[in-house]
Amino acid sequence: MNRDVINKCWNVFGLQKTEIRGIGVLNGSKKIVSAWFSSVGNLITELERYEADSMQWYFVFNGVNPYNLEAKMCNNQCINKFNSTKHSISDSDIEFRRWIMIDIDPKRKSGVSSSDEELALANKVSECIYQFLSNNGFPRPVLAMSGSGYHLMYPCCVAVSEESDVMIKDFLSVLSMLFSSPEVEIDTVVHNRARLTKLYGTTAKKGSNTPERPHRDSVIKYIPNVLKNVDFRLVKAVVDKYMIKETKYSEFDNYGRKIFDVEKFLNVHGVGYKKRDVKGGYKYVLNECVFNPEHKSPDSAVFVYDDGRLGFKCFHNSCSSYHWKEFRERLEGVKIQKPVGDSKAYSEFKQILPKQEATWLRLSDINSVNSDDILHIPTNFRVLDNCLNGGLAAGGLSILTGSNGCGKTVWLNNMILNACDKGYKIGLWSGEMQNWRIKNWFHIIARGAQADTEEINDLIDKSLEDKLFVYNNNYGNNWQELFSHIRLLVEKEKAHLIVLDNLACMNINHNNIDKYEQQSLFVKDLAEYAKQSAIHIVLVAHPRKSYGIVRKEDISGSYDLSNMADNVFILHKVNEDFKKNAKDFWKKSDVEFYSSFNSLIEIAKNRDKGEERLIGLFYESYSKRLKCDYAEIIHYSWELKNGLKIL
Ligand SMILES: [Zn+2]
Repeated sequence: MNRDVINKCWNVFGLQKTEIRGIGVLNGSKKIVSAWFSSVGNLITELERYEADSMQWYFVFNGVNPYNLEAKMCNNQCINKFNSTKHSISDSDIEFRRWIMIDIDPKRKSGVSSSDEELALANKVSECIYQFLSNNGFPRPVLAMSGSGYHLMYPCCVAVSEESDVMIKDFLSVLSMLFSSPEVEIDTVVHNRARLTKLYGTTAKKGSNTPERPHRDSVIKYIPNVLKNVDFRLVKAVVDKYMIKETKYSEFDNYGRKIFDVEKFLNVHGVGYKKRDVKGGYKYVLNECVFNPEHKSPDSAVFVYDDGRLGFKCFHNSCSSYHWKEFRERLEGVKIQKPVGDSKAYSEFKQILPKQEATWLRLSDINSVNSDDILHIPTNFRVLDNCLNGGLAAGGLSILTGSNGCGKTVWLNNMILNACDKGYKIGLWSGEMQNWRIKNWFHIIARGAQADTEEINDLIDKSLEDKLFVYNNNYGNNWQELFSHIRLLVEKEKAHLIVLDNLACMNINHNNIDKYEQQSLFVKDLAEYAKQSAIHIVLVAHPRKSYGIVRKEDISGSYDLSNMADNVFILHKVNEDFKKNAKDFWKKSDVEFYSSFNSLIEIAKNRDKGEERLIGLFYESYSKRLKCDYAEIIHYSWELKNGLKIL
């Protein structure tokens, strides 16, 4: 047993939310024990009690309904202590799929550990699968050695449903077809919801411990820096490419099922092959690829799945875009156009997993970044910008909150206009305001004292032409869709700042997991995306309470939203309510000072400088402008550029 690995496993797989199970032989009879642990320390202490026994340890890797977990484990007195259970976690207790497990095992006599050579072969296949999936857009997986084979664990987050059950099952069948060999197989039965995997760090004790087939400690070999969920559309895309229902040519087999007789088809067309029994169906390994006779066995193959679906794959780059349809057309002499796509052709079997980055870095290993080199988008509220090193930093996420009617929209619109005026490009999604109202707001602020005429408004529109992009509200509030458009805006227009107003209006639709967990995943994704694409994102979130002074802790939603943000800003309207209650949070003299403003923006969190403070602002109601000084006169560049008399 390796305590460090168990620790790692605990953290990466969230073992405090699931059942740990031991299966083995105790005193001559099969024994199953289960438990739910509140800390990794408790888990290790318990495992130590069993160290001399033949128990093998596992955990349920998908998302268990927490109430069911608690109920089952409490009933059986399995909290922080292994006990026999009649009611361990089963498929019906799983709420969402958290991991896609690919189990790569060397073929060998059952009940024994693998030899070193067999293990090395499994490792090689895991590299091929990793590379194949990377080329198909998959993020990096966790790689683990189970004791006898390898596991690729791909994080995902999708509600359990019949559809996703079938998808995972098909996906594993495809991988089995593509990558299993006479020596190594891909397990196709590990698709069920409550599937167990090895508790990494514990010892795999299969058969006798011999020098040739030793018991090994399972280990986690690689954890990506950022665990990114697999988009299920990618899983579907792989299945759709290599598992095709053929309808054009069918006959009846002895059972009356419509089938495509692959053997007959290959024989008629004089294609030589070797038929191989593979988990999930049959694989016809072709003597020569039909697209290029230099591609010899075993580089290309036709697949027949148990349910009759078909597939074709040749592992050479030049053939990477040929699938079953093209294969069939080739043999039938139909002129085929080489399909486009699959541009990231992959380099066959030579791939290596990404170099494992060091866990502990010396200072000299870390690239230095001067904070002055980071782009800061000015809000043009001077004091605020000073506190933020110049403005909203690229790569960061800010949360803006404040009670109803405190002026969040006013502040946002002023900030957006100010930044656009300085040449920054901004995308705005407003879940509550119609497009024309947004336009009106910006016109009023930008006009200031200028006349409300069509001409003037046109000049304003023109000045914001390639700066401000308002998401068309007719496209709704679906986050997945909005996000794809944000990415386009950032890539094509090089947008610097994205403003999302507000969280409550967003349809996140991360399937049917808990609402707060959804929001928490959503904000985590936002923070990660801001970092990746070096933009800043401002997210508006309402507070839970509707009276009194809003604090950071009042932000509605999951408690950790503000933890994930780089900045948290709170807007306060200076009204009677504020004057009455502010004394509870600030010194009397400060409250008196701040009471002379119309509104206040509070920096409740700033990761860069750590400065927390209030900043006073004046509101000019006719122009809806917010100003730092009462007497400040703001002029936007559209006035100056067009030679308008400054009013
Ligand atoms: Zn080929």
